[in-house]
Amino acid sequence: MKSERIWNFSSGPTCIPLPVLKKAQADLLNYKGTGMSVLELSHRGKPFKEIWNNVREGFKKYLNIPETHKVMLIQDDASMQFAAIPMNFLAGKSVANYLITGHWSEACIEDAEVYCKVNKVCPSPPKPICSITPLEKWHVDPKGAYLHYCSNETGDGIMLYDFPYEVLPENMPLICDMSSDLGSRQIDISKFGVIYAGVQKNFGCPGVTVLIIRKDLLDKSTVLPITPSAYNYPLIQESDNEMYNTPVTWSCYITELCLDYMNEQGIKYYENLSIERSKLLYDFIDNSQGYYISRVDPKFRSRNNVIFHLSKGEEITKKFIEESELEGFSGLQGFKTIGGIRASIYNAMPIEGVHKLIEFMKKFMNENK
Ligand code: PMP
Repeated sequence: MKSERIWNFSSGPTCIPLPVLKKAQADLLNYKGTGMSVLELSHRGKPFKEIWNNVREGFKKYLNIPETHKVMLIQDDASMQFAAIPMNFLAGKSVANYLITGHWSEACIEDAEVYCKVNKVCPSPPKPICSITPLEKWHVDPKGAYLHYCSNETGDGIMLYDFPYEVLPENMPLICDMSSDLGSRQIDISKFGVIYAGVQKNFGCPGVTVLIIRKDLLDKSTVLPITPSAYNYPLIQESDNEMYNTPVTWSCYITELCLDYMNEQGIKYYENLSIERSKLLYDFIDNSQGYYISRVDPKFRSRNNVIFHLSKGEEITKKFIEESELEGFSGLQGFKTIGGIRASIYNAMPIEGVHKLIEFMKKFMNENK
């Protein structure tokens, strides 16, 4: 049993800023004098409506969302979007483009194929090096309703910092799964048709998925008729306060607190922190004389999911994970299909956590040469 807080490098759910947890703890039994916990508030009552509106305003401020786009909060996980995206955005077309860069961008195709023909934009690059296929080999079907991609592959440790907009045919919406990087770097929202992300990486605890949707893409007449009402975005938009059914109230509340906390510094601060933390770790890996190795093409190394392997093999990797847990770290086990070690470093991870991890990696290397 642990008596202190540990360094949580899990891929999500993961650490939440300590001041947010303390505020939630203080509020738990009696939220703002209501005599109730947030867990007990009616979702249609005034105190919860305030939370609901603050979350949407908090996102607008933090991500600098233009008036052309709206913020929607959906009570489910990001995987549900794999089906909800084609249901809502095929716009009467039968083809959609999907760029595959790793596990998550591939996983969503299975669901999309139920509703449309999927054009895979390019072949997956050969393993074990993780990279992104060069643009010359991309083919975007101009008849496609949209192009979908994942900007940060949480399992593979690949990040596409800037989408090459020149490949996108005019008027084709760009749809992006930003589950593991939204909020950790500045982006130009106006370039996107739809962005979606589960909040459990950079904005709190699981339950809510945030969608940022260009308003003109919400068209009731083209939503597939089989779409369940709770995933019909134009219908949700028309509901009272854009709340179709009961939200995951606790997750909304924690997201509100996280956004308040992060808005004090702003997104540029968190982007710089993200660059600094990941650079420290990659530099250490690259200078470890091959003891630790990164197999991700340096051009696409994720700042949020730093994946590396121990060149001495699986047994020693297992030992690394076991010892890391005894030394106060958690969540360093690599993704199921990739193996090795994965350090997920989201907004709530202080730089001190990365210094401590490097200290541990140094010690482990010296003791296990
Ligand atoms: N997309 C990405 C990039 C993810 O990292 C994850 C989860 N780790 C998902 C989608 C699926 O999210 P959920 O488990 O909330 O459905």
